[in-house]
Amino acid sequence: MPITPPPYRIKVVEPIPFLSAGERRGALAEAGYNPFNLRADQITIDLLSDSGTGATSAAQEAAAAVGDESYAGARSWFRFHDEIAELTGYPHILPVHQGRAGERILFSALLGRGKICVSNTHFDTTHANVELLGAEARDLPCPEALDFDSDEPFKGNIDLVALEELLGGPDGGRVGLVLMTITNNGLGAQPVSMANLQAVRALCDRYGVRFFLDAARFAENAWLVREREEAYRNLTPRQIAHRAFQLADGCVVSLKKDGLSSIGGFLGLRDVNLFAVCEANLIATEGFSTYGGLAGHDLERLAVGVREVTDPAYLQARAEATARLARRINEAGVDTVQPAGVHALYLNAGRLLPHLSPAEFPGHSLGCQLFLDGGIRCAELGSLYLGTMDEQHRLLTPAPFELVRLAIPRRVYSEEHFEYVADVLADIAKSPERIRGYRIESAPPVLRHFKVRLAPLS
Ligand SMILES: *Cc1c(COP(=O)(O)O)cnc(C)c1O
Repeated sequence: MPITPPPYRIKVVEPIPFLSAGERRGALAEAGYNPFNLRADQITIDLLSDSGTGATSAAQEAAAAVGDESYAGARSWFRFHDEIAELTGYPHILPVHQGRAGERILFSALLGRGKICVSNTHFDTTHANVELLGAEARDLPCPEALDFDSDEPFKGNIDLVALEELLGGPDGGRVGLVLMTITNNGLGAQPVSMANLQAVRALCDRYGVRFFLDAARFAENAWLVREREEAYRNLTPRQIAHRAFQLADGCVVSLKKDGLSSIGGFLGLRDVNLFAVCEANLIATEGFSTYGGLAGHDLERLAVGVREVTDPAYLQARAEATARLARRINEAGVDTVQPAGVHALYLNAGRLLPHLSPAEFPGHSLGCQLFLDGGIRCAELGSLYLGTMDEQHRLLTPAPFELVRLAIPRRVYSEEHFEYVADVLADIAKSPERIRGYRIESAPPVLRHFKVRLAPLS
């Protein structure tokens, strides 16, 4: 099969740094062995996040040039509003500067001490925003989600049996909302099927609970639905995304992903009373409701971006590129969560480094090695991020898996960059036993992975 080339060519480029191995060693030590503390100009290939890291198009930049920076009622707001309203079908749209601002505003209206937010898997900041309100973030991923080798098509689904047990059980009255993350970024970039969303809708109706989407990757989920769910084969990704939004009562969306822009987000709502509460909070904390912390030029880039992102040619080329990278990595002897997602690949570090215990953070060790050997930056998703620890930062409960996420920025890297990543990994896979573990030196109480400092074990 011939490969699908991306439906664009490159017009503006940016140089990337190539440090020597010695310089990389020094840089990582200075960063406390935490890739989040590295300077971007020390990194050759940055796969830390697909958030805000995409390339914009000529059409987006042209639109940005005519951005209207009026404080209230800017022309750019109406362009943004109309695009989002058409995509989602929601009557009420609030702009926010990024996804977590929307989470904070929505959750402060629906959650509080004693309440529960239920999800297929909460994203890290989403989890934190639930718990900062004194509420509980409960994840109910489907059982297949933890079988990383199975190629079940919709491992992002929520466990419907467990959800019904919760909603109908003694804790049911405490559930403030069900939040479905599409695609499931916290657990292998796996998509959620439309059938699963429909079933969640039905359960929420039966038990009188609100149902929201965390739809940062609404276009990529729609693409995978089209590829994998029979009944949707003949719909466009945009039509599928619209139907997903229509199943829910509203959404919180980070547009730093499928908005193809460096900043932005929105809240979409049906309920006018909830909208009024959220709008008041937005004005007090983010900005007036026609800009919500965004500049007019951001709103313009986003209005174009949310349309470009559902282009089937773009989505197909991107999905294929990620799948090709996964195949190369698998052939080199490194297992990844199957099937390959679109925005990221998850390396099974626990399996590659069986000589390291969870308390030695195999995922983190592999991530550090990718930087030391190839200047590649990525993020751990394992016991460093998810494990529970005591005051001395000793691991009490390990995570159920030790993964490393290679996030793929949109429209940024070419085939040769991906080949380079696969080559560096292939080299590591030849003698993985040389990789050492790490111990924590200091860590903050919440969102540990962002600011933790470590030291290599001798
Ligand atoms: C990125 C992300 C968020 C948070 O959005 P920000 O724009 O980073 O604040 C929430 N949920 C998911 C699934 C995300 O990927």
